[in-house]
Amino acid sequence: MNTNNPPLPTNFIQAIINDDLKNNKNNGRVHTRFPPEPNGYLHIGHAKAICLNFGLAAANQGLCNLRFDDTNPSKEDVEYVESIQTDVKWLGFDWEDRMFYTSDYFERLYEYALGLIKSGDAYVCNLSAQEIREFRGTLTSPGQDSPYRNRSVEENLDLFQRMKAGEFPDGSRVLRAKIDMASPNLNMRDPVLYRILRATHHRTGDKWCIYPMYDYAHPLSDALESITHSICTLEFADHRPLYDWALEKVDYSREAEGQPQQIEFARLNLSHTVMSKRKLRELVMQGYVDGWDDPRMPTISGLRRRGYTPESIRDFCDRIGVAKRDSMVDMALLEHCIREELNLQAPRVMVVLRPLRVVIENYPEGQVEWLEAENNPENPAMGSRPIPFSREIYIEQEDFMENPSKKFFRLSLGGEIRLKNAYIIKCESAVKDENGAILELRCTYDPDSRSGGATSGRKVKGTSHWVSVDHAIKAKVRLYEHLFSDENPDENEEGGADYKSELNRNSITVLEDCRSEPGLAAAEPGNRFQFLRQGYFFVDPFDSKEGELVFNRIVSLRDTWAKVQKSK
Ligand code: ATP
Ligand code: MG
Repeated sequence: MNTNNPPLPTNFIQAIINDDLKNNKNNGRVHTRFPPEPNGYLHIGHAKAICLNFGLAAANQGLCNLRFDDTNPSKEDVEYVESIQTDVKWLGFDWEDRMFYTSDYFERLYEYALGLIKSGDAYVCNLSAQEIREFRGTLTSPGQDSPYRNRSVEENLDLFQRMKAGEFPDGSRVLRAKIDMASPNLNMRDPVLYRILRATHHRTGDKWCIYPMYDYAHPLSDALESITHSICTLEFADHRPLYDWALEKVDYSREAEGQPQQIEFARLNLSHTVMSKRKLRELVMQGYVDGWDDPRMPTISGLRRRGYTPESIRDFCDRIGVAKRDSMVDMALLEHCIREELNLQAPRVMVVLRPLRVVIENYPEGQVEWLEAENNPENPAMGSRPIPFSREIYIEQEDFMENPSKKFFRLSLGGEIRLKNAYIIKCESAVKDENGAILELRCTYDPDSRSGGATSGRKVKGTSHWVSVDHAIKAKVRLYEHLFSDENPDENEEGGADYKSELNRNSITVLEDCRSEPGLAAAEPGNRFQFLRQGYFFVDPFDSKEGELVFNRIVSLRDTWAKVQKSK
């Protein structure tokens, strides 16, 4: 019994729950479930469903189950069962002792089907899949009865038991609900409840050769777990009458109490990626990406590998809200969420991604000065650290231009820049190889211009990050762009093109020879940093080795979310 005041509705589902609590429906219980099919890794769309189901349960002193919807053995695998558990836990949710499988209920679902046959609500049909489609009719014309529709109860019982016993080949017979071939809802035109399929199931092995269909198994699994609110995505709205039909026709009162209610919400669509597991699997299996956890993938494992935090993903799910109409969310919002979190938390360090050697000719050879650098100006509590300055440093190649354009405020011949936390330097000359490529710069520094010093007031337009050559540590850095160039790669399919034609060829850039300030020697796998002017980076836990760190760029510093907002 829920005696607390229900939470203020933040979405339409909470509003429904509040009504139910007010009416003491389900004796004040709130019990949801997250029901993934273990046929792939979870993606950010699933994160939305996870946050919603576990979130509503928590907000209403209720419970949420994890249920593997494992009714299609040909596509399912224990690898997926395990990855799903890892991902849900990582997101910060706990199903306690309530992890279930639809396959736990195969025996009971079979018994219930016998009951439906006995009550005249189901029959064995010999039509092929193709014929069933033809007999179904269309939205504008009614279907035709199957010639097998009026078999006797005895004959149906006998045939169904023999289907289970393995007497018939795959696809030769199905069990169908006997509802109404003229129903305006195509899902109600005698839908298939069971099919014959010889495939080894990851839990039940070869025990079964008939498997229940989703529309039959789902409502009854919900009922058996005493689920109160069965939340699913919009495309199931048309299946709701069938969901209710199963609950009405099957007598499960000995096993469970109450009647679950199906509620539909809009699935998450994210720009510049695809989300269907079929497509994600194709990208993995055909080698377009480097596994399910490739940092470019919209999978939870990919986002984790990229460096996203569970908090940032939950924050994202909160912000997108829950609606009844499909829409497309811009990837920029997800990026905005992690940027906002790391802005306050990630230490700022200097790493040169594409090094250009600079010799400071008037700086004494062999001298090293330890300068102070703030760890995070947004968060003074993070303190500061010493960084070494010396005669030879690296700056970014792109911070020098021999013939600068008007708007180039970085270094050019005869020009000046400030080195962050250090001095102003002036470029005297560029040393080139025989092809004219720049090998190094010869500069001078202004000893009176030290940052924070008494005479540091002089201003120059550009500030660059840098590292001392002798102290620098080598690092490998991976930069990522959107996996798909097109905002909506799925859309192309409608025109007959393959979504893969929109794959972005430049979605990854690997920089093997970056140089970081020496403090990063203490960085550990899983740490996150802001590289000044370059973005937020994550120490890859799998590819990094002792003394050889690999950094993934999570996001750049440019926040495009505000711009997306403005253009709407
Ligand atoms: P896919 O088509 O990618 O295989 P699915 O819906 O078949 O997705 P399931 O494993 O059946 O995948 O999904 C488990 C739960 O997650 C379901 O309740 C489903 O509604 C929800 N879900 C799946 N994709 C999304 C999404 N993009 N946004 C919100 N919820 C989703
Ligand atoms: Mg599914």
